Amino acid sequence: CGIVGYAGPQAAAPSSRPVDVALQGLARLEYRGYDSAGVAVIDGGDVRVTKRAGKLKNLREALDGASDSSGQVSIAHTRWATHGAPNDLNAHPHLGGRDGELAVVHNGIIENFATLRAELEGQGYSFTSETDSEAAAHLVAREMEQAGDLTEAMRRAAASLEGAFTLLAVHRDTPGTVVAARRNSPLVVGLGDGENFLGSDVAAFVDSTKEALEIGQDQVVTVTADAVSIIDFDGAEVTDAKRYTIEWDAAA
Ligand code: GLU
Repeated sequence: CGIVGYAGPQAAAPSSRPVDVALQGLARLEYRGYDSAGVAVIDGGDVRVTKRAGKLKNLREALDGASDSSGQVSIAHTRWATHGAPNDLNAHPHLGGRDGELAVVHNGIIENFATLRAELEGQGYSFTSETDSEAAAHLVAREMEQAGDLTEAMRRAAASLEGAFTLLAVHRDTPGTVVAARRNSPLVVGLGDGENFLGSDVAAFVDSTKEALEIGQDQVVTVTADAVSIIDFDGAEVTDAKRYTIEWDAAA
């Protein structure tokens, strides 16, 4: 339902840890409604996922007391369940890969998930949820094994998904990068100073920056603390993304 992504500097101030930026973004997206929430960070070479059914309060409690170091990136999600009950296991992010080497959040519905799931299970990927989204997580992981590049892996995966999706992924081998793709579902980038944001809408990051970049239909965006690059699902570079300044009524 709501998505947040963040890529920040290597040694973030304690007040701007990626996990906290993500929670702040999720709070801004609460108005959309949701049944579960979760966040993933890359911490010391591991993908760390925390997710809970219920309100953000439950997620905050689950995160309380967790390790202070939370790396450079985060992806986070508020879920409005379409496939699978609203419980902890079905909440996002979902781990992908044989070793849980990446995490994915997804808004929307992947129409061909059953076919993909059967195929991926046949190849030895094990599923732990009832969601359509987990198929996308393992699909990106499989493409990453072959391509060795997260942007290319996302491009190949996204091109073979049917339906509506905004997808964000982080991988333990690229601890400063968030890669995202969209089709029939919104995605905006927030341009910061030495940090960049992703959101399903600008509310996700408007407290931090008013400079935004619109991501077009069938495009993949790769975001680090100081760079944003976009390609389409055919792999062609996109150079004409619409950049604009968010008009935001502070009283809203
Ligand atoms: N279809 C996905 C699920 O049920 C994502 C739902 C959403 O957009 O929040 O988990």
